[in-house]
Amino acid sequence: MSQTGARPRILGFISVDAAAWLVAVVVCTGGLVSTGLIAWSSYDSFQRQLRQRFELLAGERFTRIEERFTDQVQRLDGVRRFIVYSQTVSRDEFNGYVKPLLGRTLAYSWAPRVARSEREAFERDARAEGIAGFSIRDLAGNGQLVPAARRDDYLPVFFTQSKVQADVPLGYDMLTNEPRRQTFQRAQAIGSFALSPPVVLVGLREEDSHGMLMVAPVTGPSRGDPLLARPVPGFVSAIISVPLLMTDGLPTPADDNLQVRIRDLAAQPTDALLFQSPVAATELNLSAIHFMTLGDRSYEIMLRPSNVFAHANRSNAQLTVLLLGSLLSVLLSTLLYSLISQRQRALALVHERTIQLQERDRLLQKLSAEVPGGIYQYLKTANDAERFTYASKGLLDIFELSTQDLVLDTRRMLERLHPDDLDQVNKSINWSREHLSRWREEFRIVVPRAGLRWVRGEATPERLDDGGTLWHGYFTDISDLKRVEEELRALSITDALTGIYNRRYFQERLKSELSRAERDGTELSVIMLDIDHFKLINDQYGHAEGDRALQSLCQRIAQRLRRGDVFCRLGGEEFMVLCPGTSSDQAYALALELWQGLRAAPTDGVGVVTASFGIASWRRGEGADTLLLRADSGVYAAKQAGRDRVQAQLP
Ligand code: GH3
Ligand code: MG
Ligand code: MG
Repeated sequence: MSQTGARPRILGFISVDAAAWLVAVVVCTGGLVSTGLIAWSSYDSFQRQLRQRFELLAGERFTRIEERFTDQVQRLDGVRRFIVYSQTVSRDEFNGYVKPLLGRTLAYSWAPRVARSEREAFERDARAEGIAGFSIRDLAGNGQLVPAARRDDYLPVFFTQSKVQADVPLGYDMLTNEPRRQTFQRAQAIGSFALSPPVVLVGLREEDSHGMLMVAPVTGPSRGDPLLARPVPGFVSAIISVPLLMTDGLPTPADDNLQVRIRDLAAQPTDALLFQSPVAATELNLSAIHFMTLGDRSYEIMLRPSNVFAHANRSNAQLTVLLLGSLLSVLLSTLLYSLISQRQRALALVHERTIQLQERDRLLQKLSAEVPGGIYQYLKTANDAERFTYASKGLLDIFELSTQDLVLDTRRMLERLHPDDLDQVNKSINWSREHLSRWREEFRIVVPRAGLRWVRGEATPERLDDGGTLWHGYFTDISDLKRVEEELRALSITDALTGIYNRRYFQERLKSELSRAERDGTELSVIMLDIDHFKLINDQYGHAEGDRALQSLCQRIAQRLRRGDVFCRLGGEEFMVLCPGTSSDQAYALALELWQGLRAAPTDGVGVVTASFGIASWRRGEGADTLLLRADSGVYAAKQAGRDRVQAQLP
């Protein structure tokens, strides 16, 4: 749009020629892509934080679980050592030692190994100790305890201390149940702790009855007790409820961040679950797997985030970033679109207006150059300083001035005015200024080359806020018009035949001279003359000759008249001489002179021509008609008296 110099740029970098929609689309796309990148980066960082948080929680939980299981082993080992290092252990001593250890353990028991041969004695001793009806028993199919069948070995529960209310049956032979038996065998084989697969525990409440049996063989020095003197004199066992171990002192399902699954890796089938916390896992793709060895078994502990975790770590940041970023991009692009298109429209409008103004300027210059005359703007300030604020070439031509002349000194123009018209022009300008009325004047100027010229000026004034007056107007040279006007005027007051003034001029002039006489109190006289027997001349010499005679007569009379006298042909062969400032006597003398001059010499072609004269001097208060009537009466009297004479003024 800009034709020269640096092209303007919107916001300093967008070209004004760039399509607004293209800029908006580019900015919007850029904004959306940036928003996507920021949202993705935020999501990625959030996921990393989430994983770290989860791994921290999972590691902590695993440590706690492992501690609890290890604690179970240590406690049972304590019971084992208590029995190994005691001389003898009574039921009360066992109870006294074990009771404080019952924390998260359901029960501790001591089961001595009893050979078939020792059974009866053992049962008897037990009954003697005070356990009424004690016998070594098996668990029948109907869940009832019945006296044990004959076997080589028995492992009856002899001491037991439980934290649950239901009694663990004394005398129950733990070897009767296959999973238990295998556990005892493994413990004996490795000489250390062994754990059973999940078993249904006998004599416990339903909710506590799912647990594991942890057993340890009692080996070591025998100190008198016949039972302890055996290579493996018995086993201590602990009943562990995994649900109790996994829930006591840990967050409730409603608050738990983690779902815990424990699998016994040696169990059949291999995916048999030992424990699963009653907490739903979330969809989050997070999990942690730890392995733990306890006694002779290995466990897999799998931790996954729960809904509580997902809820606590929910983040709307990415969605917010996406929404805000998209909104901002759209807003920014809309703003840019509107800004660029508005700017472009404005620039286009400025361009269009500039062209219009240039065209108008050219038109004005052409008009002011071509229009006859000149246009101008003329300022007169409140304190009477004056100057032309604009003058076209035509005006300068009329006044034969240069622009500098007019701008530097307005008086240069006033000096061109005819001295007789200067006063009138100044007066009319002041009147126009005072009354804010249109100024119109025709006046003369005297310029070096063209000489005297007639000029017409016309202008409309406008009052300015500072009290000055500004005229907008034109001057035109009307010299030719004036000349034609004057010619027409001369024609209209001249008698075509004789070249002297006609009747119309006489009437006009008489009127003005009467006014002046009235005003100034001066005198005024008229001399009227009528050619004698002119009809005869016509008849004798012809009408054309009569015309020539009339012309000749007029020349002769005019020669004799004074400077101020006005000689007119009233019509036919009647004439009038208007004599301003002339008394009746002076008029009479003049009439006599004219009469003598006429009759003294012959007129060309027609011989001597005479005339009859009447005189009337103006009397104060008299009208034109009366004055003329009196002159006419004078002529009539002269005719009556015989013609060729001057009739003195009648009374
Ligand atoms: P009087 O002495 O009584 O004035 O006699 P007169 O013949 O002049 O009588 P009157 O004034 O009645 O007649 C004027 C004559 O003048 C009549 C006309 O033929 C003649 N006349 C008037 N105007 C012109 C003119 O312009 N040219 C010529 N050639 N004759 C004119
Ligand atoms: Mg006549
Ligand atoms: Mg006559």
